[in-house]
Amino acid sequence: MDLQKAIAALKQYFGYDAFRPMQAEVITALLEKRDAVVLMPTGGGKSVCYQIPALLLSGTCVVVSPLISLMKDQVEALKANGIKAEFLNSSQDPETQRKIEDRYLFGRLNLLYVSPEKLVSSSFLPYIQKVRPTLFAIDEAHCISAWGHDFRPEYTQLRFLKEQFPAVPIVALTATADKLTRKDIVQQLNLNNPEIFIASFDRPNLSLEVRPGQRRLQQILDFIRQRKDQPGIIYCLSRKNTETLAANLQQAGYRTAFYHAGMTAEDRSKVQEDFINDRIPIICATIAFGMGIDKSNVRWIIHYNLPKNIEGYYQEIGRAGRDGTAADTLLFYSFQDVMMLRDILMKNGSGNEDVQLAKLERMQQYAEALACRRRILLSYFGEELNADCGNCDICKNPPARFDGTIPAQKAFSAVYRLGESVGTRVLIDILRGAQRKELIEKGYHKIKTYGAGRDIASSDWLSFLTQMINLGYLEIAHDQGHTLHLTAAAHRVLFEGEKVELVQMNTFRERAEVEKSKVQVSAPRERVRDDLFEALRQTRLKLAQKNGVPPYIIFTDATLEEMAAAKPMALDELRRISGIGEKKLEQYGDIFLKEIQGFLARNSEQFTGSTYRLTYELFKQGHSIEKIAADRSLTPSTILSHLVQVYEKGEPVDIYRFISEYEINAVQKTLKLIEPPVRIRDVQYLLREEMEPHKIRFALTYLKREKGLSF
Ligand code: ADP
Ligand code: ZN
Repeated sequence: MDLQKAIAALKQYFGYDAFRPMQAEVITALLEKRDAVVLMPTGGGKSVCYQIPALLLSGTCVVVSPLISLMKDQVEALKANGIKAEFLNSSQDPETQRKIEDRYLFGRLNLLYVSPEKLVSSSFLPYIQKVRPTLFAIDEAHCISAWGHDFRPEYTQLRFLKEQFPAVPIVALTATADKLTRKDIVQQLNLNNPEIFIASFDRPNLSLEVRPGQRRLQQILDFIRQRKDQPGIIYCLSRKNTETLAANLQQAGYRTAFYHAGMTAEDRSKVQEDFINDRIPIICATIAFGMGIDKSNVRWIIHYNLPKNIEGYYQEIGRAGRDGTAADTLLFYSFQDVMMLRDILMKNGSGNEDVQLAKLERMQQYAEALACRRRILLSYFGEELNADCGNCDICKNPPARFDGTIPAQKAFSAVYRLGESVGTRVLIDILRGAQRKELIEKGYHKIKTYGAGRDIASSDWLSFLTQMINLGYLEIAHDQGHTLHLTAAAHRVLFEGEKVELVQMNTFRERAEVEKSKVQVSAPRERVRDDLFEALRQTRLKLAQKNGVPPYIIFTDATLEEMAAAKPMALDELRRISGIGEKKLEQYGDIFLKEIQGFLARNSEQFTGSTYRLTYELFKQGHSIEKIAADRSLTPSTILSHLVQVYEKGEPVDIYRFISEYEINAVQKTLKLIEPPVRIRDVQYLLREEMEPHKIRFALTYLKREKGLSF
């Protein structure tokens, strides 16, 4: 019964037809007033888990959120869906805060977002004591754990919630929690026998690749040349680095900007806006960028430097491909980065350097790994993937393997006999039968597997054990002196005869050598986006500007894509599109329907039956010029000239597939030197014959039409 109401609310307010995996279960638990911990990858749909109960229960759900900017966006998005939501934090003047607090007291709010400082402050606490919230939602709950990568001391004060409000259910949500952090969340918040919901962290649409960090600029240029105009982010470690990289890419003709915490808030939000609105496709940024950006069509992520830990890495690559379609990720790995990160960690003096270093080491192991990278990532988050993924560099180009069952059994057996009480280095010494005094003193020489691995060199053992960790057979218990523990998979090897495949240690170095010498070209992915989508996007942009909100608050790209494909003609058909709730239907429905009708009318008149139209249709389907030429038995230059003419007639063509911003600028500069009417020949002459005529024609049309130049 409640679930039906929940589905009705999902449709009415958010315009979605069905719950994603786990959402319905979480909502049910919360409606039954049970505590819950929710682990879902970024983009998995955590917010809906508490927003729907907030809509169904009478009273207010108080949401604790660490980032002020994120709060504002979320509240804006909720309001756009007709939900009564507000936020309270230090960025508001006292008068505004008072008004919101009053609305809270009178029960006028479904959701109230607060910062942790605000929640525990003496100015706010009395309000929730007077009128109890119906639910507490703790967003980014991993911030509570000192083991986590994003510890915020304010979060530890939240433990008073359970003491003061034992009857109010708490839901803690996070995208980045390993087992330890999860345990910490439950303990610190003092949750009452909570239900733990763990959605799969697998994001099969993200390809994974690691390359040696050499000639990075050149490699990046190759990479983005194959992904022209597709939005992507390059993460760098230092602010300086984001700036120089952006300058280099601009020089090579790419539209790009940099972003880091050292810029003014104004500059930062401008860059963010430009990215969200597809005005600038490439951002060179520190990890400050991306928090709370719900941009669904990011097509690639590059890590210029090694991230500090796997949680951060997974969160950052998770910003690509939220729409569920293919996206590529590339990580550059160099040992210098590891050394630099170590230095930074040690200097920080955070008090838990030990944990941070261990996490960095796991990151390094991931980068050096020779096993399916997705298996490594998922096993890090406590999930088991039974087969290799087929979408990472190791799967696509696998190293030679051997049957490593015997060394694995020796290692697991030793771990077992030692009661899971030692770490990697001691284990290797025991396996190798080392004569160190401490080992003898502890009686390790008496266990059966002491010296059983003498035939394997220490360095090889280190590599094998790392692989066993990466493959999910062994786990490191960071809260128990980094000791090694056996997983269910290791038990199967020990007791059920399951086999283990390993890779010889030297293969990694060989691979690095080979990769250095070979120019890497992965298959370019062509963008498929039709002009109706483009037209709808423009409509959205205009509306957004008029209403002073970011475009995605109106509709997401995914919603526009579905609209462009379905071409709805009436409000009822529009209602069926995912992401359109009642409020938005009422507010924007007619505007978008009109746009679709106009588009269809315009298009049926043009190019009927002509050879241009055929070329144009194939091009819009995302085929390359070479492919269209081959299919139509024409030359590529004929195909290009078709497209130029189509473009000159006023149809949208993604000209950045053929010409860069830099080249357009070059053409524009020549115009000052030429007396009208401008001829292609003249431009070509001034550019010293270095630009092909079709590019010049594209550029001239572009300058006339988009820049309003006359010549
Ligand atoms: P998270 O907080 O886990 O990163 P969000 O709650 O921001 O994820 O949701 C990610 C996107 O998925 C949002 O655009 C959201 O509107 C959308 N979404 C959430 N639940 C559903 C659903 N049941 N069906 C379709 N889309 C959904
Ligand atoms: Zn793989």
